[in-house]
Amino acid sequence: MTRQPLPGQDGIARLSGGPTSIVEAIEQRLEPGTVRLDSEVVAIETKENDLRVHLRDGAVARCATAILATPLRIAVERIRIEALDPRLSGVMLQTPTWMAQHAKAVILFKTPFWRDRGLSGRVASRIGPLVEIHDHSPENAELGALFGFVGWPAKDRQQDPETLEAEIRRQLVRCFGADAARVERVILHDWALEPLICSQADIAKPPEHPDVGPDLLRQGHLDDRLWFAVSETSDVSPGLIEGALVAGQTAAQRILSKR
Ligand SMILES: Cc1cc2nc3c(=O)[nH]c(=O)nc-3n(C[C@H](O)[C@H](O)[C@H](O)COP(=O)(O)OP(=O)(O)OC[C@H]3O[C@@H](n4cnc5c(N)ncnc54)[C@H](O)[C@@H]3O)c2cc1C
Repeated sequence: MTRQPLPGQDGIARLSGGPTSIVEAIEQRLEPGTVRLDSEVVAIETKENDLRVHLRDGAVARCATAILATPLRIAVERIRIEALDPRLSGVMLQTPTWMAQHAKAVILFKTPFWRDRGLSGRVASRIGPLVEIHDHSPENAELGALFGFVGWPAKDRQQDPETLEAEIRRQLVRCFGADAARVERVILHDWALEPLICSQADIAKPPEHPDVGPDLLRQGHLDDRLWFAVSETSDVSPGLIEGALVAGQTAAQRILSKR
């Protein structure tokens, strides 16, 4: 048997309230009613020196500048963008959305019982079905939670979710002992089934981490009226949460510098 050391996690920190808390804090600085949820953009066109952003429900928003923060492949596959440079749409289609075809499982327990035995809750497995597991318990440890990345391909996990859940339960007992059988709830979330995240191109191709893309992704288009700011456009950590923050800042700075 050979030992496989896991990558270090020194300096890891918890974001209180999760990543959503960043979005909520920014939203509080906007006029009430500015953010419209559940509004799918289906087309963007230029009209009378403005952009018209068409929503699925038929509404049209008029704006001087739009920043599109959707996955790049989704933008090409699902949004009709008038006069988009074919070089740009080619780069967008070639840019994978990181983890788009993956699934996660969250398993809830009454308590984070593994901590009582000095265990971190962290697992790396080549057998699975969870190939990586982390302690996901809330800050006050009022309940126990583990989360893991599902190693089964999208087709297999969608064909037989019951067997997947049974195998996850078996794996947890293998790793954490009999206490792990006292599961309160298993929550599976499959991003491959999210039509606004996982594109046809992501399903068709093997998972890949995006490289830093060309500056074309970070430039203005349609006479500097249309910009892109999803994580995969970032020149730092593309595809990751850090990349999403940098992409937003880059787009904002570039737009403001043109005023
Ligand atoms: C399973 C999984 C695990 C991950 N693990 C990690 C990790 O451990 N660390 C890490 O740093 N990153 C991780 N990531 C990546 C991280 O989630 C992304 O980098 C981050 O969410 C990107 O943020 P974003 O705002 O750029 O895009 P997203 O969070 O993808 O947001 C894009 C939004 O655009 C919306 N949208 C799409 N099309 C339209 C449309 N036509 N109209 C309106 N809205 C639309 C979508 O609904 C979505 O809300 C993971 C991703 C997945 C799927």
